[in-house]
Amino acid sequence: MAASMAATQQRLALGAKQATFGPAVAPRSAKANASAKRFNGLVAEAMSSCIPVVSSSRRTAAARAPLPARSSVVAQATADGKFDYDLVIIGCGVGGHGAALHAVECGLKVAVIEGHDIGGTCVNRGCVPSKALLAASGRVREMRDKAHLSAMGVQVGAVSFDRAGVAAHAKDLASNIQGNLKRSLESIGVDILTGQAKFVGPQKVRYGLPGRVDIGGEVTARDIIIATGSVPFVPPGIPIDGKTVFTSDHALKLEWLPNWIAIIGSGYIGLEFSDVYTALGTEVTFIEAVDNLMPGFDREIARLAQRLLINGRPIDYHTGVIASKVTPGVPGVKPVVIELTDFKTKEKVDEIEVDAVLVATGRAPYTNGLNLPAIGSATDRRGFVPVNEKMQVLDTAGKVVPHVYCIGDANGKYMLAHAASAQGISAVENICGRPHVVNHLSVPAACFTHPEVSFVGVTQERAEELAKEQGFKLGVSKTSFKGNSKALAEKEGDGMAKMLYRKDTGEILGVHIIGLHAADLIHEASNAIATGQRVQDIKFCVHAHPTLSEVLDELFKGAHVEGPAAAGNGAAKAAAAPKAAVAAA
Ligand SMILES: Cc1cc2nc3c(=O)[nH]c(=O)nc-3n(C[C@H](O)[C@H](O)[C@H](O)COP(=O)(O)OP(=O)(O)OC[C@H]3O[C@@H](n4cnc5c(N)ncnc54)[C@H](O)[C@@H]3O)c2cc1C
Repeated sequence: MAASMAATQQRLALGAKQATFGPAVAPRSAKANASAKRFNGLVAEAMSSCIPVVSSSRRTAAARAPLPARSSVVAQATADGKFDYDLVIIGCGVGGHGAALHAVECGLKVAVIEGHDIGGTCVNRGCVPSKALLAASGRVREMRDKAHLSAMGVQVGAVSFDRAGVAAHAKDLASNIQGNLKRSLESIGVDILTGQAKFVGPQKVRYGLPGRVDIGGEVTARDIIIATGSVPFVPPGIPIDGKTVFTSDHALKLEWLPNWIAIIGSGYIGLEFSDVYTALGTEVTFIEAVDNLMPGFDREIARLAQRLLINGRPIDYHTGVIASKVTPGVPGVKPVVIELTDFKTKEKVDEIEVDAVLVATGRAPYTNGLNLPAIGSATDRRGFVPVNEKMQVLDTAGKVVPHVYCIGDANGKYMLAHAASAQGISAVENICGRPHVVNHLSVPAACFTHPEVSFVGVTQERAEELAKEQGFKLGVSKTSFKGNSKALAEKEGDGMAKMLYRKDTGEILGVHIIGLHAADLIHEASNAIATGQRVQDIKFCVHAHPTLSEVLDELFKGAHVEGPAAAGNGAAKAAAAPKAAVAAA
């Protein structure tokens, strides 16, 4: 069925530019020789300024015209007549965006349907604004740390900040990146349709906005990707008023700075906000249901994180309790009252009064109104869309629903921006007939506190269980930032790194880092895991001195593989390389 007139009008109303088209029909799996430009780390492609753009009225003619040299980066009109699009993506957060870019690169004709704002959570209410707040507040913390600065011979006067200015930095960054994402789609010919989408049958989707007759339509697609993301999860008994009791959605606007805030949940979102708030002068109380802070982190790393990120700061905490009842207050007039209940005994144990509460208890998948029964599927008991490892949606009997995929937070496999994007690319590969599976154990994660925490793979606790279950000897290599010249030059020697590996094979099971720029450092390890490199392969790689990367160099060099795997390792390859290079020269 052809796209409705309303859809076309909507595209025109949005000012979406259709880019130059290449050959009218390209094989579905054909690889467009796109020269992708990456600008924000989320697999974004060429900006509109780099790409020739023509108006939508020239689309058909351009599609028949001979292929100009650089036009292959734009979406190809490959829909075979039976469908409006090769691929329709519901939701244009980073997952949907990443999938759309890759699909165009693969020669598919693509539309995204977005019900709220391009960029979704990450760009508008997540990674991006939170990192802006962390950058600004981190600078304040650093410049107010007189002891740290004077140890390097630096003196500063009084350091002040403007709350509204910090908030504006976060807002402006989000809107800039949102604009970049939108232009990056338009410039390669992706149609951006506005509205909430729902399935009306196999390979058919209807979309629209409540109360807007001018927006919406129905489209068909050979394949459909669900990328509808998530929203903050709020436990029962906690009314959100958006002023004194709020989620990260409100907190990122930094509308006020309470003197004392309780943060419910000490996962990475709660921790990052504690970093922002304490740097800007707010006292924090953590309320955590399990017995230790930072559940999910490697225990040893969590202990050091507690020393570096909590103990020396105006932060206290209650663990093993839940906030069973929260009564909102009035800013500056009436406090918020929180009833604390023992997580195990369910007995009320305390009541505290604070100026504000941030609920950071995780994220819930957002699938409202998708009408999954129309494709024979339903969400699981936690609300996620069930998928297999190829991101194919499963029906209520556990069988694959043909031509429907789900990526990102909505499937709950790994609720991080880059995981959503990687899953989107993977789904497109599968759509193009090239079987692909994301190795989630190679996907890094980071918490952007000061200092940062990052990891990839399993924790030491899990690695020990695996060693027992599978009968191998676990190797643990550790190092400290205290021996790193670059970290010491910055007077930032606090931190450690740890690698877990199999002593018999050298397989890397996990790497954990806390310290300066840990979020950037983790990628050498995650790429090694993704490409199947073993410890003995990488321990002979050379790292520039003095750099923080030598922390990882130390980890790799500190590992000792035993038995036959240790022989014939990277040392031999490294020794052979110069001869080859000399011969080639
Ligand atoms: C405070 C905070 C900080 C974070 N920091 C980081 C970080 O530093 N690094 C990191 O990797 N991750 C971070 N995350 C997590 C990250 O934001 C998410 O994992 C990521 O945004 C998920 O991407 P997604 O594409 O699956 O979904 P989303 O980004 O949620 O996008 C889904 C989109 O789908 C749209 N949509 C939903 N339903 C429909 C429908 N029926 N029709 C049309 N459109 C629809 C929504 O409007 C939305 O735009 C953070 C999250 C928060 C809250």
